[in-house]
Amino acid sequence: MATYDVADRSAIVTGGGSGIGRAVALLLAQNGARVVVADLKRESADAVVAEIEAAGGTAVAHVGDVSDPEDAVAAVAAAQGLGPLKIAINNAGIGGPSAATGDYPLDGWQKVIDINLSAVVYGMRAQLPAMVANGGGSIVNIASILGSVGFANSVAYVSAKHGVVGATKNAALEYATQGVRVNSIGPGFIRTPLVESSLDADTLTFLESKHAMNRLGEAEEVAALAVFLASDAASFITGSYHLVDGGYTAQ
Ligand code: NAP
Repeated sequence: MATYDVADRSAIVTGGGSGIGRAVALLLAQNGARVVVADLKRESADAVVAEIEAAGGTAVAHVGDVSDPEDAVAAVAAAQGLGPLKIAINNAGIGGPSAATGDYPLDGWQKVIDINLSAVVYGMRAQLPAMVANGGGSIVNIASILGSVGFANSVAYVSAKHGVVGATKNAALEYATQGVRVNSIGPGFIRTPLVESSLDADTLTFLESKHAMNRLGEAEEVAALAVFLASDAASFITGSYHLVDGGYTAQ
């Protein structure tokens, strides 16, 4: 049964082949949206499309690198092929190197900024005019709790995510009277391949203890908020940064 009103509109989910993006793509499709599952690797995107189709939903794969501005244009074209683009979840992201700011590798800095920040702006740049032409829409940018607080040895990630929160507010102001809402989400640490592949068991236990609920979040818990923000139920919500962090930043 549908929970959110997103039916019969097309949606882009970047990084839709894994983790949070996969959970958002599945939930959007479950609620009737037609989803472009955009990802770097064909096999990741195809696997999620197959899951959606097996559940009776509609999806297509789009393969590309979000740090290429032309890829954002191509993803919008793919979505418009399914119906008017009304929803975009700019989610693809990477962790990046771990080092103090004085030692931070410049190539790692540039890569994280390109993928985690510039790509969100490239995405919105392509998505916003299409949504205005389609009579409105909703963009949800996946930032992080590290869009509002720091985390030692992560200057690139923290800077990029703070930037995502700012770019979201800016776009929201610019398009508020044109029917497009733009919001960001700040997840705490979520149990996804990004986290589980890069952190050892002791670090994961330490990170659990940083959340008031003493656990990591699940991708589905972020997806529930993302799809709510994408839906008409969030019709008066724009320019906001919404935490889903098990109390991490309340302390
Ligand atoms: P994930 O499981 O690694 O999924 C990210 C997906 O994005 C992967 O399929 C990845 O492909 C893809 N991707 C990476 N670089 C890309 C590029 N240049 N172009 C297109 N796709 C690309 O990560 P996740 O944990 O779900 O993270 C999703 C988002 O949530 C990220 O923006 C992350 O910063 C944010 N976030 C995560 C957490 C957390 O604790 N997990 C917390 C706060 C915020 P490959 O696997 O092929 O690289």
